Amino acid sequence: MNRLYHESEDWVRQGACRNYDPELFFPVSTTGPGRETVELAKAICRSCAVRQECLRWALRAGEAHGVWGATTPEERRYLRRELLPAAS
Ligand code: SF4
Repeated sequence: MNRLYHESEDWVRQGACRNYDPELFFPVSTTGPGRETVELAKAICRSCAVRQECLRWALRAGEAHGVWGATTPEERRYLRRELLPAAS
């Protein structure tokens, strides 16, 4: 995982994505040709032991790019509106 800015989080060291190319989790788009990359990244996330921690972090941080916890930026924006109305 090439996400050093939150390496202080303990769960990061257990992320399944550490064994994959970071670019897989940052596709150029989430539609068109990028869709296949997104689905591959999501499949890795779904097998990840720290998926919930990762998603919680991305929602709290307002992470605007990449696949985190098996979600795209668009899906996280939706979740933030639904789950964290005060944060939007
Ligand atoms: S849920 Fe996905 S992005 Fe998050 S740590 Fe696991 S593999 Fe990495």
